[in-house]
Amino acid sequence: MSQKVTVASDWLCGCAGCHMSLLDIDERIIELVQHATLTSTPVTDLKHPPEQGVTVGILEGGVNNSANEAVAKMMRERSRILIALGDCAVFGGVPTMRNTVGIGDALRRAYVETESTVDGKIPDDPEIACMQVCRPVDQVVPVDIYLPGCAPSADAIWYVLSELLAGRMPELHGKFLDWH
Ligand code: SF4
Repeated sequence: MSQKVTVASDWLCGCAGCHMSLLDIDERIIELVQHATLTSTPVTDLKHPPEQGVTVGILEGGVNNSANEAVAKMMRERSRILIALGDCAVFGGVPTMRNTVGIGDALRRAYVETESTVDGKIPDDPEIACMQVCRPVDQVVPVDIYLPGCAPSADAIWYVLSELLAGRMPELHGKFLDWH
């Protein structure tokens, strides 16, 4: 990719730790912005990738509800290359633990039965996203690059981004797949 590439990121059902690890590339972010335009991230004013699309889309987190599904589909439609960033995006991660009890029981436990709850009620406003079985991103949209880890190291994230900036598809192996 010789011309400046565009990069967008967003998060689904995750803890933001993968985005924190992205920020941990530290001074290399200067090199990143020299070669790439960050169009939209959860921490910028523009939250969604532009309609004209981006070169690289990055998704953190699993798909946990109807809002996550819409975000994942928009990012896929608008990204030439889609990265699943972190264990939650790649495998579903910790939130998939609630799949074992079912949505109804999980909602009841969270909103009604917790020890600190008095007169709890499961939210039912139609404006609120509908909870779904929690899934990894590739069960909803095709993924091009998988970068596991909780969170992936800054070095692994930088390796992936710098390879893409150089016009190569990253090959993840060895130290870049270390578990944290
Ligand atoms: S993979 Fe780990 S750091 Fe990333 S969103 Fe999931 S729990 Fe957080």
